[in-house]
Amino acid sequence: MKELLLLLKKFFGYTSFRPLQAEIIQRVLQKEDTLVLMPTGGGKSICYQLPAIYSPGTALVVSPLIALMKDQVESLIANGIPAAALNSMMPEEEQQQVKQLCVQGKIKLLYISPERIKTEADWFLPRLDISLIAIDEAHCISHWGHDFRPEYTQLSILKERFPKVPIVALTATADKITRKDIIEQLKLREPGVFISSFDRPNLSLTVRRGLTKKEKIAAIIHFIRKHTGQSGIIYCMRRNDTTELAEDLGSYGIKAIAYHAGLPPILREKAQEDFINDRVDVVCATVAFGMGIDKSNVRWVIHYSMPGSIENYYQEIGRAGRDGMKSDTLLFYSLSDLIVLRRFAEESNQNEINIEKLNWMRRYCESEICRRRVLLSYFGEESDHDCGNCDVCKNPPKRFDGSILIQKALSAIARTGERVGLPMLIDILRGSSRAELIEKGYNRIKTYGAGRDLPYKQWKEYLYQMIQLGYIEIDYANGQTLKITPSGKKILYGEQRAQLVFYKEPEEETRTSKSPEKRVKARPIRPIRSDSVDETLLDALRQLRKQIADREHIPAYIIFSDDSLEDMVEKKPVTLDQFSDIRGVGQIKLERYGKVFTALTRFVLKKQEG
Ligand code: ADP
Ligand code: ZN
Repeated sequence: MKELLLLLKKFFGYTSFRPLQAEIIQRVLQKEDTLVLMPTGGGKSICYQLPAIYSPGTALVVSPLIALMKDQVESLIANGIPAAALNSMMPEEEQQQVKQLCVQGKIKLLYISPERIKTEADWFLPRLDISLIAIDEAHCISHWGHDFRPEYTQLSILKERFPKVPIVALTATADKITRKDIIEQLKLREPGVFISSFDRPNLSLTVRRGLTKKEKIAAIIHFIRKHTGQSGIIYCMRRNDTTELAEDLGSYGIKAIAYHAGLPPILREKAQEDFINDRVDVVCATVAFGMGIDKSNVRWVIHYSMPGSIENYYQEIGRAGRDGMKSDTLLFYSLSDLIVLRRFAEESNQNEINIEKLNWMRRYCESEICRRRVLLSYFGEESDHDCGNCDVCKNPPKRFDGSILIQKALSAIARTGERVGLPMLIDILRGSSRAELIEKGYNRIKTYGAGRDLPYKQWKEYLYQMIQLGYIEIDYANGQTLKITPSGKKILYGEQRAQLVFYKEPEEETRTSKSPEKRVKARPIRPIRSDSVDETLLDALRQLRKQIADREHIPAYIIFSDDSLEDMVEKKPVTLDQFSDIRGVGQIKLERYGKVFTALTRFVLKKQEG
């Protein structure tokens, strides 16, 4: 165990294991099959990388995406670990070189694409001294999972051909059926199953509902300006939204690129590269974006519209904060999203399951208790405390007697013969004189104008609550008109009273100037004394990291994670000895970068003194 800790520091620069890592590593070293379920960012890689370094021979790592392989190989090499990739995208000559190095036993980890396993099973693989086989993104093997890949089903031959080699399968998403599928298809023998908590406490959770497109854009701009200089992803439901939104943001001086599966591969690749290498901070993307991205310093994720299930949502927000540092997430949700998603679910071939999944998602969005508790309970975990890092925890709902408000709304619905949708209802309540309303004679009903005192936005919010509380129902089959439910009638006739949650307008995002962006300093991840040495130092260290990254043609986060930079700001190492104590500084990084980083730190400190 002590030896493993020494290796952890030497090669990865960490001084302790995360929960379950040590147990998993020990099991793999005992040559036993293992299934690992950990959330994105949980630290799965070390579970097979460390045993691979420790054991003689070469470890095979099956990984579904070439981009992901490249990233992993680069980070291993940056830590002084001999690693390589083998896939069909590489020139033949390079493939031969890699194979030769492997046969000579000079490679500790070989990343290989699943389709290659079969073609190499007869000649190349048997010539290797295979220490272990890791199957990354193992849920791809299952039809039940959401990323099924036919090539993965061929992996069953691994156990047949190499019965003595331990297999470790890893995934961030696997319900019970998928789990069973993975074990059966890979033919794992009495596997140890390790399930770590799915909690990601570093991700803040916020949900906002009922915003118009314009309001959403204003909110997004406000949000991004608070995160200037930090990388983030905005997930959109439609391809068109991605391009439109990127343009809209551009007109406010925010550089954003669009990404969706309909773009030519060259553009997609460029978008991905620009994002990974910090040449662009914001990507507006469909869910096609992200699978191949291991960027550890994505600091925020926004959902422009609601995802169809909690699994998808969790995977998407999971792309933020993989380095474990504080990151923010924001989800917009509206009835129109819900209507579209419901239709998708109904038309899909697993409609019952998909409708149930959507209902869970909706429950999450409408939750009045800690959102993280809802998420965790979805994944079958219980938590005994509120998280303090979601919008519900930060702004606990304040209630008032909303009976009169509800009565006004319900009576207006009744008097129109339950023939209106939400926007018309609000216009009636607020006494609008728009043409359609007058034509239909709704200005003559008794409740016309009865809710003048409340702005449109507030009515919208309270009506959402009435729907959520089950007083109003949406008739999806009938132009989304509103119907009064039996429990609504009880309120309408005064047989029962009801509480609503007080609606508070969120902060100052109403005015969004198109004038050139005021450069707000990137908000430090941990509180750092503003305008102080710390901020100057962090800035300088970031620039140095970027320079080195550009020179070495690797992403900045592979040189050092944001977490390592923050640790440098905190400890201000000026000698190599001090530098070696920084989180994420292993032996190679100490040798390669220690001098320049400590020199820069000395320089900044001296300049501040002088
Ligand atoms: P996953 O594959 O589960 O999504 P990774 O293996 O990429 O996660 O790890 C996520 C981040 O956590 C990486 O930046 C990694 O270096 C870091 N990490 C992993 N294990 C440890 C540890 N024991 N101590 C500190 N950081 C760790
Ligand atoms: Zn909470």
